[in-house]
Amino acid sequence: YADFAGRTALVTGGASGIGRATAELLAARGARVTVLDLDPSTVTGPLHARRADVTDDGEVRTAVTAAAEEMGGLDILVNNAGIGAQGTVEDNDDAQWQRVLDVNVLGIVRTSRAALPYLRASTGGVIVNTCSIAATAGLPQRALYSASKGAVLSLTLAMAADHVREGVRVNCVNPGTVDTPWVGRLLDAAPDPAAERAALEARQPTGRLVTAAEVATAICYLASSTAGATTGTALAVDGGMQGL
Ligand code: NAD
Repeated sequence: YADFAGRTALVTGGASGIGRATAELLAARGARVTVLDLDPSTVTGPLHARRADVTDDGEVRTAVTAAAEEMGGLDILVNNAGIGAQGTVEDNDDAQWQRVLDVNVLGIVRTSRAALPYLRASTGGVIVNTCSIAATAGLPQRALYSASKGAVLSLTLAMAADHVREGVRVNCVNPGTVDTPWVGRLLDAAPDPAAERAALEARQPTGRLVTAAEVATAICYLASSTAGATTGTALAVDGGMQGL
């Protein structure tokens, strides 16, 4: 599955963390790649970059269409942009619920809607969504985030069924705790970031966090023709945290 020569890919949230690692790996293996992000200013090298907010349908439509036209089509869509939320149902108000669901769930709906005509026209169009073990783990203090990722998992299965006969596969990855700027920001907010990191690592069955490169590798596998018979699945990359 190492060869993406001649393939074109769009990665949302591709300026940082898992999305960045995925965009770079796809490009290293020969794909033409466009990163779509709120702030693509740090994106360099062979990657194309477009600014768009996945909560804005007009911006998404314009960016996806322009990227596909510029690259000469679209074979691979990685729906990775996402934001977090902590707390129980009593801690987040309606506006916070709507905001997180808008990014994490409707963001995928908007990019997929704009990309599907191109993916259908591709020989082997594929969507990979970045879900989370939170979709099924029942994590404490993550009611809103878990619900949003549960929706991503269900959406992945439904979209796989809807588009399999059109030649488009849809899968997701379920990362555990991944060492990205996102987790770095959470650790930095703790009174003792180093102690907090050590405690987080100790909670991992593997004794370490998952790397963004490991999640990117799983996404690239699902995006590759090697996985041509795989659709409607979630691939755990969680260091043994849950394994679903
Ligand atoms: P990150 O914060 O490092 O990167 C997320 C990127 O998404 C950023 O570049 C950000 O600008 C972009 N983004 C956010 N909102 C956007 C919007 N409205 N429109 C366009 N772009 C937007 O985060 P990460 O850790 O790499 O997470 C990426 C994905 O992985 C998310 O969907 C997250 O839920 C999921 N995930 C992360 C972990 C983890 O432990 N880091 C675990 C499981 C799942």
